[in-house]
Amino acid sequence: MKTPISTSSLKEKINGKIILPNDDAYDDARSIYNAMIDKRPALIVKCKNKKDVQAAVDFARTERIEVSVRGGGHNGAGLALVDGGLVIDLSLMKDIKIDPENRTAVVQAGCLLKEVDNATHEYGLALPGGIIGTTGVSGLTLGGGIGYLSRKGGLTVDRLIEAEVVLASGEIVTASKNSDPDLFWAIRGGGGNFGVVTSFTFNLLPIKNVYAGPMFWPLEKAHEAMKFYDQITKNASNDLYGFFAFLIVPPGDPFPEHLHSKNVCGIVWCYTGPMEKAEEVFKPIREFGPPILDFVGEIPMPDLNGMFDELYPSGMQWYWRAHFIKELTDDAISENIRHGSNIPTMHSTTHLYPIDGAVHDMKPGETAWAKRDARWSQVIVGVSPDPENADTVTTWCKNYYDGITPYSDGGAYVNFMMEEGESRIKASYGDNYGRLKKVKAKYDPNNFFHINQNIKPA
Ligand SMILES: Cc1cc2nc3c(=O)[nH]c(=O)nc-3n(C[C@H](O)[C@H](O)[C@H](O)COP(=O)(O)OP(=O)(O)OC[C@H]3O[C@@H](n4cnc5c(N)ncnc54)[C@H](O)[C@@H]3O)c2cc1C
Repeated sequence: MKTPISTSSLKEKINGKIILPNDDAYDDARSIYNAMIDKRPALIVKCKNKKDVQAAVDFARTERIEVSVRGGGHNGAGLALVDGGLVIDLSLMKDIKIDPENRTAVVQAGCLLKEVDNATHEYGLALPGGIIGTTGVSGLTLGGGIGYLSRKGGLTVDRLIEAEVVLASGEIVTASKNSDPDLFWAIRGGGGNFGVVTSFTFNLLPIKNVYAGPMFWPLEKAHEAMKFYDQITKNASNDLYGFFAFLIVPPGDPFPEHLHSKNVCGIVWCYTGPMEKAEEVFKPIREFGPPILDFVGEIPMPDLNGMFDELYPSGMQWYWRAHFIKELTDDAISENIRHGSNIPTMHSTTHLYPIDGAVHDMKPGETAWAKRDARWSQVIVGVSPDPENADTVTTWCKNYYDGITPYSDGGAYVNFMMEEGESRIKASYGDNYGRLKKVKAKYDPNNFFHINQNIKPA
């Protein structure tokens, strides 16, 4: 790919900004959440609207420049950026329109989860999203979207009504069940393979406050705790959600001093049923152990979604691995404890995110997101603010992943993957992979959008 000789033709067409390597703003504009990634695009186009996106797509196609798309810049593999290419940066596109009567939100593609959470909360509504408020709505949604409300309301893509998409041809279409239905099917889990989504229309849940927060148990209780967790969530209503974690307790407020820097296991709960029933629901949970820390109580939904934002600021080293898990066998539990007891840094962790409940209401072929029969999406992240620890956290993460592989259901949630090759992507989409390749051939036959978990055209 050649570097563009002149950007003047693009400049004339857009309302946003073009940032080039010699500009003061360049380093800031090319930095993303994961500081392990260091890519140098030839130009970054900060788009203000769909016409800007269309102009950037047309320019890159005509000039034969590689393109990446940046929503919130959170992707672990750094797929928001492209070396020597053009970044379509959506971060200035922040409009959110709520229709409280119909419980819908039209969200522009540059929004972060916390911006959507705060906007919907004002109306007593919520969108199932992720567990960190600074994550981009765009990338999270297109890959699926797993979070505290998954058991109650499904994946983020399960709440999608329609999306406005700029295709590789430059054409702008609205994808929904009735309009470009193949495209609508594919973008619900197929990632950024099919075009640049400029806005999403979501159906929201009537949720304002939740009974939620973390509970910890000592590592010696980990085997029993995982068994207990497995059983209680298996039989629970969709109102109860909890992700299991191995972690090191942060050495500071609000955690009690005797727990600081201790390696523990825990569950972060989110109960969305009637508040007057919450104590009763949590009675058996509180009786187990008992927990060595219990921060569970009634809080506004955005407080839960933002609870860990300060702990995980932008600019740390991140290495990711993931699995889909159907069953927590005794051997799988032992292997989790082996690696979970050996966490190399305070920020490194593993989470088992439930993907049962309402996620299973959809059939595997109903959306591109195929895994409608697994119970958990496990993520293992090696994280450190210190670049010197990059190798240590990477090695721990890879070893943990290898240890769990025999108990995995094959593949992983694409949004939790690094660049791991075509066979991993294929395994993640299972029986939907063939149809995804056909839809790719229809909407992007030349694989113009390939800086992503790439699905090659059939
Ligand atoms: C700290 C942290 C916590 C997370 N927690 C969760 C969680 O709880 N649940 C969950 O499901 N995921 C979670 N994730 C993973 C997250 O879903 C992915 O990192 C996702 O890619 C982030 O979206 P983004 O817009 O910020 O990504 P970006 O890095 O901006 O983009 C990632 C990729 O998405 C595509 N893309 C982005 N926007 C568009 C668009 N508008 N049109 C077309 N393609 C686009 C592009 O292919 C791009 O390569 C978390 C990530 C981090 C770092």
